Amino acid sequence: MTKATYDLIIVGGGMVGASLAIALADRGLSMALIEAHTPDADTQPSYDDRAIALAFGTRRIFEAIGVWPGLDKIVEPILDIHVSDRGHFGFTGLSAAEEGVPALGYVVTARELGRVLLGRLHQQGALDVIAPARVVRFDDQGAQVRVEVESNGVMTSLDCRLLIAADGGNSAIREQLGVPIQRWQYGQSAVVTNITPAKAHANVAYERFTDSGPVALLPMTEQRCALVWTLRDEQVDEVLALDDGAFLAAFQQRFGYRLGRFRRVGRRLSYPLSLLRARESVRGRVAIIGNAAHTLHPIAGQGFNLGIRDVAALAEVIDGAFAAGRDIGSPAVLDAYERWRVQEQRNVALATDGLARLFSNPLRIVRAGRNLGLLAMEFLPGAKHPLARAAMGLNGRQPRLARGVPLG
Ligand SMILES: Cc1cc2nc3c(=O)[nH]c(=O)nc-3n(C[C@H](O)[C@H](O)[C@H](O)COP(=O)(O)OP(=O)(O)OC[C@H]3O[C@@H](n4cnc5c(N)ncnc54)[C@H](O)[C@@H]3O)c2cc1C
Repeated sequence: MTKATYDLIIVGGGMVGASLAIALADRGLSMALIEAHTPDADTQPSYDDRAIALAFGTRRIFEAIGVWPGLDKIVEPILDIHVSDRGHFGFTGLSAAEEGVPALGYVVTARELGRVLLGRLHQQGALDVIAPARVVRFDDQGAQVRVEVESNGVMTSLDCRLLIAADGGNSAIREQLGVPIQRWQYGQSAVVTNITPAKAHANVAYERFTDSGPVALLPMTEQRCALVWTLRDEQVDEVLALDDGAFLAAFQQRFGYRLGRFRRVGRRLSYPLSLLRARESVRGRVAIIGNAAHTLHPIAGQGFNLGIRDVAALAEVIDGAFAAGRDIGSPAVLDAYERWRVQEQRNVALATDGLARLFSNPLRIVRAGRNLGLLAMEFLPGAKHPLARAAMGLNGRQPRLARGVPLG
């Protein structure tokens, strides 16, 4: 039974919207989550077969919101990361042992993550999940937001004090607000699949830079590796049309034999790559989070990891205001969230964009420079530690949830 008025309405039940709903579910707020698809990891497009590398910092947040026990047994830890430039001298590496953490990160498919998140979502009595339903428009009326929802051809109006746009990269809410965006098409797509090498992956992740774009190989369960192969757009159809044997041979030629011969490959999916940044993440009584606020190149596996750190900060700000009896959608509350997150969002987007461009550049002088950079990283004392902390999501002012401390 849905109500007509909520404290908080979240639009979008992808990884980011679902995580925010779970984080705030037992905090006394009245909440609704509106999702366009039936929330089911087997059919909802947000939860497909791509592999997601969860940073160590994301594990802490999942522990604090009670999601980690469902993931613990099904993730594969990343103990080392090996970064190199194909056919050149530069390399560097990060290691969990050197950083004093049990793992640098963990790999899980989006579908398995979806099963755990949606399972937890359905256990939250205080949350109304309205799905399949679509927000078609909203009106920020100053004291509240009126949200028009269409479900099975029936329109309903709901009111809330705070509207959260977690509706993905093509966010209709962001567009209706008229928030300006910065968008860059890389002219590249990621071909994603899983692949089984002859040698054990030994929980090492590989980032290899090639002249057509970066390649990532992440350790998965059952000795498989998740492959993210960045290609120029014009190469994608040709590569997707290859049969299994020809695909394995083409990728082997790109990656080399460090893991022996590649033996088996799964279903291939492709994703066009672009960078998108909203220039504002709050306006009026609306906050924009996850891919709706920033969609990144997957080269460094930071998209969701950045989104869940937004969730941790926003949940803390909302919870603090609600507990103090303040208006959770007021400018003071939302500005505090935006000020907290703006610097890290900018840093991660710029670093990811810089990596994607630098390591797709075939010019000899650029190549020489980046090889020296990788070597410097490897051999200069203290150079790697800040990079590792950033990759694990442990930099900057950490919200309670990111320190593994539950809200309240
Ligand atoms: C190939 C690839 C590899 C990646 N690897 C990694 C990785 O290793 N690590 C990492 O951290 N990130 C990775 N990412 C990024 C990660 O997948 C995204 O950051 C994450 O999925 C974003 O989740 P989201 O909830 O913000 O958006 P989405 O998953 O897009 O969810 C948005 C939801 O909103 C719903 N919706 C939209 N409009 C409406 C509406 N009007 N009304 C109601 N509902 C609506 C949609 O149905 C959808 O369920 C990768 C991305 C790609 C493409």
